[in-house]
Amino acid sequence: MPITICVGMMPVVLLLLLQAAGIVNAFVALPVTARLPPVSRMKALQGNTRIAPAHIQGSTNHGQGLSWAAATAVAMTAITVVRRARLCACTDSQARPVASSKCRVALMAGDKLPEGRKLRVAVVGGGPGGACAADELAKAGIETYLIERKLDNCKPCGGAIPLCMLDEFDLPLDIVDRQVRKMTMISPTNKEVQIGQTLKDNEFIGMVRREVLDSFLRNRAADNGAKMINGLFLGMEIPKDKSEPYLLTYNDFSGQDGNSRKGDKKTLEVDVVIGADGANSRVAKDISAGDYEYAIAFQERMKIDDAKMEYYKDRAEMYVGEDVSPDFYAWVFPKSNHVAVGTGTVIDKKGIQRYQQGIRDRAAPRIQGGEIIRVEAHPIPEHPRPWRVNDRTALIGDAAGYVTKCSGEGIYFAAKSGRMCAQTIVKRSENGTRMIQSYDLMEYIREWDAKYGPTYFVLDALQKLFYTSDAARESFVELCEEEYVQQVTFDSYLYKTVQGNDPVGDVKLLGKTISSLVKNNSKAPDAMRTLA
Ligand SMILES: Cc1cc2nc3c(=O)[nH]c(=O)nc-3n(C[C@H](O)[C@H](O)[C@H](O)COP(=O)(O)OP(=O)(O)OC[C@H]3O[C@@H](n4cnc5c(N)ncnc54)[C@H](O)[C@@H]3O)c2cc1C
Repeated sequence: MPITICVGMMPVVLLLLLQAAGIVNAFVALPVTARLPPVSRMKALQGNTRIAPAHIQGSTNHGQGLSWAAATAVAMTAITVVRRARLCACTDSQARPVASSKCRVALMAGDKLPEGRKLRVAVVGGGPGGACAADELAKAGIETYLIERKLDNCKPCGGAIPLCMLDEFDLPLDIVDRQVRKMTMISPTNKEVQIGQTLKDNEFIGMVRREVLDSFLRNRAADNGAKMINGLFLGMEIPKDKSEPYLLTYNDFSGQDGNSRKGDKKTLEVDVVIGADGANSRVAKDISAGDYEYAIAFQERMKIDDAKMEYYKDRAEMYVGEDVSPDFYAWVFPKSNHVAVGTGTVIDKKGIQRYQQGIRDRAAPRIQGGEIIRVEAHPIPEHPRPWRVNDRTALIGDAAGYVTKCSGEGIYFAAKSGRMCAQTIVKRSENGTRMIQSYDLMEYIREWDAKYGPTYFVLDALQKLFYTSDAARESFVELCEEEYVQQVTFDSYLYKTVQGNDPVGDVKLLGKTISSLVKNNSKAPDAMRTLA
């Protein structure tokens, strides 16, 4: 929840502000244009070049609204115009397909697979991203291999998922350990704000155990026809031309258990590879996808006594302050029979232990005496990789870098990107009857950026505005008292869309935000409060 809730919370205010400013729309093209490949790569992506206009005109669920600061709007518009101009220039001259339409037709005809032979796709990594991709591919009759090194993997994770994920991915309710309906935001001076008052009876944030969620998704993919390989992916040979397959090498662990398992080295030939192997993706390395900045997240699972657990049974807490993280937030999330207490940081990774001590100290009245049953740490990507498609390989989920900034939410986005990438493969390969190329996979990137680029942008901006000083963090928590903020926050988190945006509410909120920031920046901080 830290991660998830924060998704909801942080975003709240800034989201509204930016919506009101019309900045979101102005920036729809930004993430895409900023990542446009250089000429050489674009040439390799024959046929994918019309992406520019689509991106520029991309629509967003995240609202329009009034202009807020004229100066800001003007600046944003100017930036957008410049980027658009650059993008169009690139589109027209460099990104146009190299092949003529005649060549293209011949190529596509040549790409038809022989009768009876289906497209072969290997999905490396069986987390939510990989499992959902494999499920979608297998359902469409594509020859699908899902390679997962650890079938009982318990990924370090808060496990908070949005309500819409249950319906969208047809997840049974009993997969959810706890239904969180109360969220407490706690400021640097321990001012507590309860949010979640606008939630309807049937609305909640789901808290899952990753070992449960991941294995449910993987088993479903297998039931639908994906071939499960319990193995460690070691690397792959990249084909030298379009007709050659990829040759994957992996250590096959089938029938072997425990940490001492050695595995048998095996190979697998496929036409297409999906890298779903998380933040330390081996597939990304093999295709030279480039690095990304990442946060280090640290979490302790703690068993607390029954009375204390009662408090957390349907509640998650999010703490902000220089003592718990210089650029992120810390959390206490409820799990099945314990809580997860953690924090994260990008800018001071070496200080992570100090920040973990910070959250232990702050939450002490509520977790004191807790027995630590598990300690975990893992990187969280901060932005997409420079390259997410190369040749016939695509990256999804954390391997691609699809965790939202500020909130650290990645489960839904991993599952969604897996599904979106697989649907693109199914469509472009005509249900696995035709070979695909990189320009086919680029369709998934175009769709992804058009749909979620603005979300990433807004959350990034939120983080910059509200996580920079304790005065700004006090304002952030203060603003969360607003019913309007709570409504929009939960709508955008739970349903991944903003419903019924109210321009008058936006303007009022803008006024309150400015006055709160001015107030908290110009006075001495309040005395530290004691948590009850
Ligand atoms: C501490 C922490 C808390 C978090 N809390 C939340 C939260 O509350 N809500 C939220 O939405 N997100 C949260 N996240 C982010 C979320 O965990 C990720 O975004 C999400 O797991 C990404 O899913 P994925 O399928 O892309 O990758 P992963 O879940 O990382 O799955 C990758 C899979 O690939 C397998 N694999 C890796 N390498 C190989 C290999 N060489 N061969 C074979 N298999 C391999 C791994 O075993 C793993 O099963 C949190 C992250 C951290 C670190």
